[in-house]
Amino acid sequence: MGAKILLIEDEEKLARFVELELTYEGYEVTKAYNGRTGGELAQSGRFDLILLDIMLPELNGMEVLRRLRRASSVPVIMLTARDGVTDKVAGLDLGADDYITKPFAIEELLARIRTALRKSAPAARENEVLSAQNVSLDLKRHTVTVGGQAVELTKREFDLLHYLLKNKGIVVTRESLMENVWDFDFDGGTNAVDVYIRFLRGKLDEAFDIKLIHTVRGVGYVIKDE
Ligand code: CA
Repeated sequence: MGAKILLIEDEEKLARFVELELTYEGYEVTKAYNGRTGGELAQSGRFDLILLDIMLPELNGMEVLRRLRRASSVPVIMLTARDGVTDKVAGLDLGADDYITKPFAIEELLARIRTALRKSAPAARENEVLSAQNVSLDLKRHTVTVGGQAVELTKREFDLLHYLLKNKGIVVTRESLMENVWDFDFDGGTNAVDVYIRFLRGKLDEAFDIKLIHTVRGVGYVIKDE
């Protein structure tokens, strides 16, 4: 199978057309018609590239990109209907890899997709596996192992561990965990963080008798390598 592409575009006819062309080229395409669903899918880590419209219902493309970039370096190509430079500059500032102005020739989009995928390939490989002590998290396979032994985590636990590992050695506040791990759909308090830290500790620290997740009283949590 070819690279997995997420297309976030509310114009269904255009989305359908792009999907057909990309599928024909051997890519595996998933479509989302609004920013909220698209943003959640984008953060799943399942895609090799995101095509992101700017004017979207529920959550606009800029906001989707801003949230996505807190945790992911997946290549993003913005699809913009306007030719004003403001959107392009703002998109690139927020970490988009490229943009293409609608209407576009499909050949041009294909060329930009190939370029973005080529550029991202080495970096993606480097960041595929995060580890601390004998704990490894594989983003592509979506697996966690301790000393080579697989551990079953829920999506939320996995995301939480991923964020802590990315910030290994740095104390992460509850607020920042709340914002980066719960992001789209949560409006509860930060004690949810403590609850999920307890779940993670149960499955990692306690189950394997290691000291991975440390509490920094009154501040937050940190994963240490030693
Ligand atoms: Ca649109």
